[in-house]
Amino acid sequence: MNIHEYQAKAVLKEFGVPVSAGKAVFSVEEAEAAAKELGGPLWVVKAQIHAGGRGKGKFKEPEAGDKGGVRLARSVEEVKTFVGQMLGKTLVTVQTGPAGKQVNRIYIEDGSDIEREFYLSALVDRATSRVAFVVSTEGGMDIEEVAHKSPEKILTFAVDPATGVMPHHGRTVAKALGLTGDLAKQAESLVTKLYAAFVAKDMAMLEINPLIVTKDGQLRCLDAKVSFDSNALYRHPDIVALRDVTEEDEKEIEASKHDLAYIALDGTIGCMVNGAGLAMATMDIIKLYGAEPANFLDVGGGASREKVTAAFKIITADPNVKGILVNIFGGIMKCDVIAEGVIAAVKEVGLKVPLVVRLEGTNVELGKKILNESGLNVISADDLDDAAQKIVKAVKGA
Ligand code: ADP
Ligand code: MG
Repeated sequence: MNIHEYQAKAVLKEFGVPVSAGKAVFSVEEAEAAAKELGGPLWVVKAQIHAGGRGKGKFKEPEAGDKGGVRLARSVEEVKTFVGQMLGKTLVTVQTGPAGKQVNRIYIEDGSDIEREFYLSALVDRATSRVAFVVSTEGGMDIEEVAHKSPEKILTFAVDPATGVMPHHGRTVAKALGLTGDLAKQAESLVTKLYAAFVAKDMAMLEINPLIVTKDGQLRCLDAKVSFDSNALYRHPDIVALRDVTEEDEKEIEASKHDLAYIALDGTIGCMVNGAGLAMATMDIIKLYGAEPANFLDVGGGASREKVTAAFKIITADPNVKGILVNIFGGIMKCDVIAEGVIAAVKEVGLKVPLVVRLEGTNVELGKKILNESGLNVISADDLDDAAQKIVKAVKGA
């Protein structure tokens, strides 16, 4: 689960991480009050969307101006103008995709006098099974490009969970960033606090870009992007309360209501599969035969007819879906239940694209019989290979 920059900063502040004072607003009136309260003389008006690259982003509407989603303001009037221009408009950044994201809330923050900008992030590193830090002097820029063109400018190290962050980690960061004296001490303290926040809140990723040194020698987090491990959210009601569903994919929200493991993707073939491993294999084989999956969907081991119906509706609601592949191995799940779910869903929402069904396992004969007698235009397949070829052919032929 992702949260907004201002929320991330509030979470980090609980752990003593240095962030600027600021206030999130939803209207020009609130922005005026916030700007007056902060006092100036420099404010930063920051569009809050679940995507980075806002500073270099562009609004779709010309009346929103061409200064991107992060703007320096030198008066309360200017703060009001920028907020008025941005609210309700669609910001397109390298991370939003071409559709962009509507700006519904804005963060008004104290402006900082920046001396230097660094990059610092922490994430769960699968290779070492540890929390790893990534540090670079090349902050504020596109870190992917730095990684590509000058990887020697990026330092990575993992933290042993048995010891947690040690003083030498802090010194490593300070050295990598070229910090000495009091700033080196601040860096050591910052790494300790960020690690504490990361572990305590079950974060999956924490990215500070830029981490800055101010002209008066203070280390401060000027941007914060945080995502949390969804599997641990049950023990963090305070984090769940920060969820902004307007930022999430509608289909994924609907899927989570039915307890379906669903991830929207960019392809054209909708997949309904049981078991994460089989779902991955199904996506792989679709790619092998030259098409792209429109989603990952695991209906789970013991899905009910209602769940299958909900899953089918979510798939067909995606306008990019040009064909559907149902691939079920009936273990705990029975093939006839799947067949009934598919039929119920098609009766409700119709079927405008080719549908290939591959069933195997418990009650497979009954499942096939139900589908065959339903009068639906279902293409049946014998195995995974056959199913993938049939759906790709049906979609490409259409
Ligand atoms: P994004 O990464 O989405 O573009 P950032 O929060 O990193 O958004 O802001 C982009 C740039 O704007 C930063 O690299 C920094 O130079 C400047 N900036 C952001 N917040 C402030 C602030 N409070 N004071 C001064 N400059 C800021
Ligand atoms: Mg940033």
